[in-house]
Amino acid sequence: MRDKISSAPGCADAFDPNSISLAEALDKIQQRVRPVLACERLPIRDCLGRVNNEAVKSPHNVPPLPNSAMDGYAIAIASLDQGVISELEDIGTAYAGTPFDGSCGPGQCVRIMTGALIPDGADAVVMQEQTEINAAGKVRIDSDHRVGENIRQAGEDVRQGEIVVEAGARLSPADLGVLASLGLGQLQVKRKPVVAFFSTGDELVPVGTPLEPGKIYDSNRYSLHGMLSNMAVDIIDLGVVRDNLDSMREVLTKASTQADLIISTGGVSVGEADFIKPALADLGTTEFWKIAIKPGRPLTFGQINASIFMGLPGNPVAVMVTFSQFVVPAIQALAGTSPRRPALFRARAVDKMHKKPGRYEFQRGIATLDDNNEWQVAKTGQQGSGILTSMSRANCFIVLPDDNVGVEPGDEVDIQFFDWSL
Ligand code: AMP
Ligand code: MG
Repeated sequence: MRDKISSAPGCADAFDPNSISLAEALDKIQQRVRPVLACERLPIRDCLGRVNNEAVKSPHNVPPLPNSAMDGYAIAIASLDQGVISELEDIGTAYAGTPFDGSCGPGQCVRIMTGALIPDGADAVVMQEQTEINAAGKVRIDSDHRVGENIRQAGEDVRQGEIVVEAGARLSPADLGVLASLGLGQLQVKRKPVVAFFSTGDELVPVGTPLEPGKIYDSNRYSLHGMLSNMAVDIIDLGVVRDNLDSMREVLTKASTQADLIISTGGVSVGEADFIKPALADLGTTEFWKIAIKPGRPLTFGQINASIFMGLPGNPVAVMVTFSQFVVPAIQALAGTSPRRPALFRARAVDKMHKKPGRYEFQRGIATLDDNNEWQVAKTGQQGSGILTSMSRANCFIVLPDDNVGVEPGDEVDIQFFDWSL
């Protein structure tokens, strides 16, 4: 008689030979996901977060002509006598938008405002604070100045013909400002990827209805919707799908006619009510279904017709972890921009953390700056993958790589700040 049940690897085990590494999963996503091709021309304000289609070259110099960086006096440096204070005649004023009509000769100066064109004959601007006016109204300036002082040269921001926004760049607020500084009112961007999502589970009821025993509220569709809303995607909410093969097949078939990316939550484990894998096997192809991470090990990645499919786990924390690590790069690749790995910062651990080697772990942390302005990070209490408040209380993931075997207070760890505005 055996005295032990030989078990297949489960979620509690550190190592599972069927699971692939985080890096391998990201590679496969990159290989499989093709960017959307269609484009649209939009007013630049509507291009925030969108992906630029063709490199934008500047049609002219910015600034177009030399102008003043300060309020002060435009002069020719040759007018200044070395080692003494010179007294120059004020012959007029140059305003931003209204140039001085004339030229600045020897012994003369022009009162000038920030942004005003440099008058002919002048080659420097002396700050107002470094000048004095004498009783006769002359402007007194010492000789400690040089050619080009306080002048913004033509093209010093952007040279004519220079590329200012690369193809594939995701447009930031600064990019919109730069495009406007070139006078460009519209831009051609890639169309938004369409993302459809649904929850699975017979236990799920919608918010706002009474809860019967054994039922729970569907929270995943809300955290998912929240994360997607911060991205430049069109969202289709397909609701809750019941735990049977026909319903799964039906929703997946429908979604594949509407969306570039289909996301489900739940139903990807090995339970009797987990129908995502068999439905995907019927309708499409499966690339992988287990990743060596915690939480979030069961994650099904594949394709149905032309749509990418990502079957996230059901546990609410695992949904957010897998979204941040795998769905975000998949959406970036779909959108036509190169995925960026989230930045890691080093922080001193406040708490002890248990960790088995062989998988990546994403614990939830609260990072704060200590008295020396260095990051320290505390855990948000219980770390179970159903404890969704561990996410809402946290501001970062504590990222413990494969080879980590646990953390003692005072150890350095990597943290990844939450950034849902990608
Ligand atoms: P599953 O992978 O379907 O077995 O789900 C794993 C766990 O996550 C179960 O405890 C589910 O009840 C829970 N769960 C699944 N979907 C949701 C959801 N949409 N909202 C909240 N909890 C969920
Ligand atoms: Mg389920």
